[in-house]
Amino acid sequence: MTALLTLKDVRAGYGGSVVLDGLSLQINEGEVVCLLGSNGAGKTTTTRVVCGLVQPAAGKVIFDGRDILRVPAHERVNEGICLSPEGRQVFPDMTVRENLVLGSYSKRARADRSKTLEEVFSVFPRLRERESQKAGLMSGGEQQMLAIGRALMGKPRLLMLDEPSLGLAPKLVMDVYEAVAQTARLGISILIVEQNAEVALVASNRGYVLANGQIAASGSAPELRGSKLVQEAFLGTTRAKRNSSRSQDRT
Ligand code: ATP
Repeated sequence: MTALLTLKDVRAGYGGSVVLDGLSLQINEGEVVCLLGSNGAGKTTTTRVVCGLVQPAAGKVIFDGRDILRVPAHERVNEGICLSPEGRQVFPDMTVRENLVLGSYSKRARADRSKTLEEVFSVFPRLRERESQKAGLMSGGEQQMLAIGRALMGKPRLLMLDEPSLGLAPKLVMDVYEAVAQTARLGISILIVEQNAEVALVASNRGYVLANGQIAASGSAPELRGSKLVQEAFLGTTRAKRNSSRSQDRT
């Protein structure tokens, strides 16, 4: 397996506060990897470090075999590092099409804009139907699709999705994750950042759990799903099973 992204002993935060304290992880070519963590664990900060929006105080950020620690954010987009940010961040007064086109201003993406737009519309037919509608009038699920579509317009080699299921009804979560699966089939490497471990682990080959600024657990999706840490912290199953067997004992 060829490593596409490697973070090694990354230490990063804001002002004097340390959020990531020795974080190491790897994403290989063509893999879907999830980064799980509770509120405030530092998942978004990790995506910012990869994008170049937060500069680490220590550690290494290697992309496609090259140290990109000093490469500015706009050049990283040109390398194929694209983000669908938490909270979608679509431009509400611009149309769906205009929002999508904004994702394709890098040198890497510009020339293929029309072709990529067609590909995005085939992954998200809803966006084609709403092409001329203002983004602010779209539902939460549609805006999430738009945010992912806009990131795809950058022709990513690494697509990072920050909390794609946040605030969506279950049916829309399934729609969004079906699109994630389609994107993965195109061979694009994907990092999914989620609190929703249930859906993220179904969509991923491997995963990491972030706690206290470091990786607390890692493994294949089935290994993580079976781990006590993930069950207790994210799936709630161990406690639920324990409680249900206790109540059965009492009957
Ligand atoms: P969530 O799931 O709630 O988004 P997260 O795992 O993505 O959480 P981060 O957003 O990376 O966590 O935040 C990690 C810590 O850094 C939190 O304590 C947060 O308050 C703090 N933080 C995030 N952004 C900033 C900022 N711009 N300035 C100062 N502190 C910040």
